Amino acid sequence: MTDRVSASDPLPFQVDVAVVGAGAAGIAAARRLMRPGLSVLVLEARDRIGGRAWTVRVEGEGLDMGCGWLHSADDNVLADRVEAEGLTLDRTPPPWRTQAFDHEMTPAEQAEFGQAFAAFDQRVSEAAALFRDGRGEDRPASDFFDPDCRWNPRMDAISGALNGARFAEVSSLDYDAYGDTGVNWRVREGYGRLIARLGEAVSGAVVRDCAVRRIDRSGPLLRLKTRRGELTARAVILTVPNSLIAAEAVRIDPPVPAWLEATAGVPLGLASKVHMTVRGAGDFQPDTQLWTRTDTAETGAYHLRPFGRPMIEAYFGADLAWGLEAQGPAALVDFAVSELVAALGSDMRRRLEAAAVSNWGADPWSRGAYSHALPGHAGDRARLRVAVEDRIFLAGEATAPVYYGTAHGAWTEGERAAEAALAGLGLDPRRADGDSEA
Ligand SMILES: Cc1cc2nc3c(=O)[nH]c(=O)nc-3n(C[C@H](O)[C@H](O)[C@H](O)COP(=O)(O)OP(=O)(O)OC[C@H]3O[C@@H](n4cnc5c(N)ncnc54)[C@H](O)[C@@H]3O)c2cc1C
Repeated sequence: MTDRVSASDPLPFQVDVAVVGAGAAGIAAARRLMRPGLSVLVLEARDRIGGRAWTVRVEGEGLDMGCGWLHSADDNVLADRVEAEGLTLDRTPPPWRTQAFDHEMTPAEQAEFGQAFAAFDQRVSEAAALFRDGRGEDRPASDFFDPDCRWNPRMDAISGALNGARFAEVSSLDYDAYGDTGVNWRVREGYGRLIARLGEAVSGAVVRDCAVRRIDRSGPLLRLKTRRGELTARAVILTVPNSLIAAEAVRIDPPVPAWLEATAGVPLGLASKVHMTVRGAGDFQPDTQLWTRTDTAETGAYHLRPFGRPMIEAYFGADLAWGLEAQGPAALVDFAVSELVAALGSDMRRRLEAAAVSNWGADPWSRGAYSHALPGHAGDRARLRVAVEDRIFLAGEATAPVYYGTAHGAWTEGERAAEAALAGLGLDPRRADGDSEA
């Protein structure tokens, strides 16, 4: 790896591989590239690593602003690393199966809703199977709603959390392709903390506050224009969110039309979090969930007492999240408090206090939360995995075929791109000197 580059150092003139972005994919790529004789630099726009994996510390607790769940934990390459990194793996079942208070739905209605959602998923799957047989088309997932079903708004609210978008904007094929083993665990100290820990192995190669603006591919070497000057590289692994490639915030010259089209076909939706402390937390059962309304998709999900803490985590998705973020953090907090007051009584207003509010939509280095394929664009993730001239490689949650939208999907994609880059440089991709397969 390249020697540590401090904030005042000039960038090296040339490296073998430049990794753009130090989120889960960029860190995984850099770890996989570690080997003697290969110079690697990770160029990160923010002043921290981790990207959308970010844990903030509030009153001694690690609160995840981005990823929090090790989804498909029994098939998640990061789950084994939690305890190996000295952190705590929490296997408490997720709250979305434990409706607090039977509040807005009776147990019978919850069962009815579960059946309605399962039937919807089944119709989507059957249509996807037909498509794979050469029949049918990639349609909006909402086409598979039963028009007479009273639970459609609730399903769309859940789509906001799952996809960052309503089902009308979600490709049925892509939605069907998502892998979910049904096992979900957490990292007590924070998922962002895990990714930051894993990044320590390559921290000497990370240059922070170093946004890449342009990648010139017209010459024999790739020329990167960054906030801190220029450098050349033989290969580039680009791990910035799709939203930034589509908007050409990182501009490739000459442009790559296939990537511009495909990144636009797999845009980032939005999910927003509000972490609040709650007084008198003993009134709530730990790790349960409350949705306050069933008649609209414009409503939040409330995780009561995560890890048993005296806290509530509000989660908003899709248009609701975009609208509230546009008005600023106070609007997100106000909305959460007003829904909880309406559901649980007016004294909630004095019991709740905001501790941390996310801002992924406005953040210039993410411009959204996670990707969903638009109807008709399920094939775009695969198009993004096709390298340019065998020397520019895209990787991140959006390129993951099955575990898209997740941190472990991004991690696996970073490793995949690193191996492709090594092969492109004529090196044996399987000989990993730095990152053992622990
Ligand atoms: C609210 C929310 C909840 C989520 N919940 C979960 C969950 O429970 N489980 C789960 O697995 N996933 C979850 N995710 C998704 C998960 O966080 C992401 O899929 C994953 O972290 C993405 O990793 P990445 O490496 O692809 O991208 P990123 O983490 O976005 O990394 C890209 C990096 O590129 C940097 N960058 C951007 N532009 C430039 C530039 N011009 N030059 C240099 N660097 C640049 C960014 O600063 C960033 O560090 C959630 C995300 C959000 C926002």
